Formats: sequence, C-alpha cells, structure tokens
Amino acid sequence: MITNENYDTIVIGGGPAGSTAATLIAQQGYNVLLLERDAEPTFKIGESLIPATYWTFKRLGMLEKLRASHFPLKFSVQFFTRTGKATNPFYFFETNPHESAVTWQVLRSEFDQMLLDNAEEKGVEVQRGVSVRKVLFEGDKAVGVVVQNGRMGDEKSKQNIETIHGTVIVDSTGQSSLIGRQLKLNTIEPNLKKASLFTHYEGGHRDERLDEGATLILHTEEKDSWFWSIPLPYNRTSVGVVGELDYLLQNRREQDGKLNAQKIFEEELEKCQPLKLRLEGAKQLFPIQTTKDFSYRASRIAGDNWVLIGDAFGFLDPVYSTGLFLALKSGEMAADAVVEAFKDNDFSQTRLGQFGDMFVEGMEAFRKLVYAFYTKDFSFARFLSEHPEHLGGIVDILSGDVYRRDVTHIFPDMSKTCYFPPEVPLTKST
Ligand SMILES: Cc1cc2nc3c(=O)[nH]c(=O)nc-3n(C[C@H](O)[C@H](O)[C@H](O)COP(=O)(O)OP(=O)(O)OC[C@H]3O[C@@H](n4cnc5c(N)ncnc54)[C@H](O)[C@@H]3O)c2cc1C
Repeated sequence: MITNENYDTIVIGGGPAGSTAATLIAQQGYNVLLLERDAEPTFKIGESLIPATYWTFKRLGMLEKLRASHFPLKFSVQFFTRTGKATNPFYFFETNPHESAVTWQVLRSEFDQMLLDNAEEKGVEVQRGVSVRKVLFEGDKAVGVVVQNGRMGDEKSKQNIETIHGTVIVDSTGQSSLIGRQLKLNTIEPNLKKASLFTHYEGGHRDERLDEGATLILHTEEKDSWFWSIPLPYNRTSVGVVGELDYLLQNRREQDGKLNAQKIFEEELEKCQPLKLRLEGAKQLFPIQTTKDFSYRASRIAGDNWVLIGDAFGFLDPVYSTGLFLALKSGEMAADAVVEAFKDNDFSQTRLGQFGDMFVEGMEAFRKLVYAFYTKDFSFARFLSEHPEHLGGIVDILSGDVYRRDVTHIFPDMSKTCYFPPEVPLTKST
C-alpha cells in the first residue's frame, strides 16, 4: 500500500532509468515513490552493457554487487562482415586502461531487480504491481498520477484506482512512454523503421578467455539484416536479428496474413553461417519474440514539474547496446537536475530540463554511428584502414564515452561515405 499522499518525487517505471533516478534523488534525503506495473521480475530484452555505465553504477553503489554477480564479463565487441569475416575485436581497454573498461552481460529480470533492491536500500519506496494510468496536469504543470493497483485490464483492479500527488514526476516507463503519448511528443526516427526477432539458447559455442563474454554483431549475406549474440549466465546466449520492418515482417506474411516468426528467424539464420555454426547443438529456450518501431524520440525532455528519462525519452537502435547506458545516464542527469530544483524551489521546464541539450549531444554521436552501420557500402574495417587515426574515437563511442571525451572528430571523414540526418534539437513547448 502506498504510504503517503504527497511525495517529493514520483518515479513511474522500475527499469534501469527509473531505479537510477529514484536512488540518486532519495540519497539526497527526498522522499521518492517508485511505481512499477509488473508484480514480479520479468523477461526483458536489452542485455548487453557498455563500459561507460561504470560511472553511474559507482554513484549508485552497485559496483560491488555487479562484481559479485554471475553476469559474464564483457571486454569487447566484435563485428562479422556479410562474407563471414571477423574484424579484430574492439577491446575497450585499448583506449581506456582502467577497470571501467570491463562491463557485464546481464539477465534483465535479475539485473533490474538488483537495481530496484538497491533503490529500496537507499530509501526509495518501491511499489510493484501498480500501473500508472495517467499523469495529472494543472495547466502545464504535472501534479500527480492516477494509479491502478493490479494488472491493467483486470476487472477487479479497475475499481482499485487512486490519485497520488508529487512535486516532480519522473517518467521512466520505457517504450510505453506515458507522458510522450499523453502530450504527443514522440516522432519515429524516419530512416530507422526496424523490427527485431529474438530468443535465448542454451549451449552453443563460446570463444575463450577475454573473448568469452564478447558481444558479436554479425551481418547476414546480403546485409539486409544483422544478428546479435550475447553470452548470458546459465550457459545461455541471447540471439536476435534486426532488419527493416518491411523486409523482416511486413513482406514475409504467410498466405493467411499471419506471421511465422520462427520461420523468418530460421531463414535469416541460414544467411548467417558463422552464427549458425556457433549455435549447432544449442537448444532454443522459448518461442521467437517480436518487436518493432522502437526508434523514436520525444521533442521535449522536461516540462514544469516533469522529466523524461531512458526509453520514455527515446531509443535509437540495438546495434551498439547504448540503450541501458542512456537509460542510466539520463536517470543520473535528471536526478541531479531534480535535486538542484528542490534546492532552489524552482521546478520549471528550464530548470528540470537543464541537462537536455548535453544529453542529446551525446545521443547524436551514437546516432551518427548507427547511420554509418546501416550504410550498405560502409565498412568499419575499410574506414579504419583509410583512417587508422580514428580507431580511438570509434572505441570511445562503442564504450559510451561520449560525455567524457570529444568523439565528434571522426564524423567529417565518415560523412564522405555515410549520410547523417540533421540533428534534432529539443523544443521547449508541445
Ligand atoms: C531489440 C532490442 C534489443 C536491445 N538490446 C539492447 C542491448 O543489448 N543493450 C542495451 O543497452 N540496450 C538494448 N536495448 C534497449 C534497452 O532494452 C532499453 O534502452 C532499456 O531497457 C531502457 O531502460 P528504461 O529503464 O528506460 O526502460 P525499461 O527497461 O523498458 O523499463 C520501463 C519500466 O516501466 C514499467 N512501466 C511501463 N509503463 C508503466 C506504467 N504505466 N506504470 C508503471 N510502470 C510502467 C515497465 O514495466 C518497465 O519495467 C534493446 C532494445 C531493443 C528493442
């Protein structure tokens, strides 16, 4: 049961972004309520971290817990071309000889729960099994939330509705993007209309020593799609394929109009022999899951008494595993803005959104590298053989070091072969 009627901050959604913001605000002595609709930890996609998450984990007091976990260590990412040729692994320690160059591959049900437990230890009131139906506004100002205890759509819980007030409302609802939808802030990234199919395997080949926990990114033969392979605990491997929505789903419907996701997945795997070989003898653990239209961004990051973080603000693309990092980073930046706002008793859009331009600038670096990846005749191997001086910049971006180092110097040379879309600045009103 919710214990208070008026909180300093209400955080909606208990994923990595929400836990991060809630923890850091509570650590400064403010009372924080976090509402998560799932009653129990559940399967989620998005399992590979990048090194720059280290600094947020450090502030959260999570490093010891992660070190003690059974999550595989990730030292690198390795790409495979459409002909099956492997590039040298991009080892993060090549540009960063520090313990932060090593990160983890996580099972999300366990990882998200660890972050929530940590939030609770640090003073956050965590309520699971509570769905927020909408954010309440008085004019432009967010003043609270309307919640439903129990599952949405469940008849009994429909009567179980209450209103809770809070000074600041943090939306970390992921792709549900509660405020984004309520205020119609979201725009689909026009050139990234993608879909993905994924599952877990048990067994399968793993490389040795330093490479055992590496993320592999493998193009299929015609470069129409690509696979990830992410080693997980319990001898599991997460495997997923990403491609244009039309190519992967729309144009592949059966005669009865239905989709056979298993068949499509297997057809794509057939075009990716290095991965198929690695999965020989491995057991698929659950039916293929499907997701689409996941690349979008909100036009605003904050308003009066509200702020958006993680996927609730936007998501780019799975390719460089930047989603969790951006969720943690925006959670951290927003928490600092909220704490400053309390100190000055100023909860205006300008104050709460003060981190927005800087946050978006880092996101833009990832965005450009995503567009390079999807440029059909661009190859990292060729680019680096022509511009070996840019290796450091690329490893920095793959590590997530977009806020600590200047990485933009690689883009003028890259733009000679890649199209980069115009940057999208934040707007101040709807
Ligand atoms: C195919 C695919 C592969 C990906 N692979 C990777 C990867 O390898 N590495 C990586 O870093 N990222 C990856 N991502 C992205 C990553 O999954 C997300 O960026 C990340 O989960 C965002 O965290 P979040 O906290 O913002 O949102 P989420 O993790 O989605 O958490 C949101 C939480 O809010 C809760 N919620 C939603 N609505 C409500 C409501 N109304 N009331 C209460 N609670 C609510 C949800 O139950 C959920 O727990 C991938 C994404 C896709 C689509």
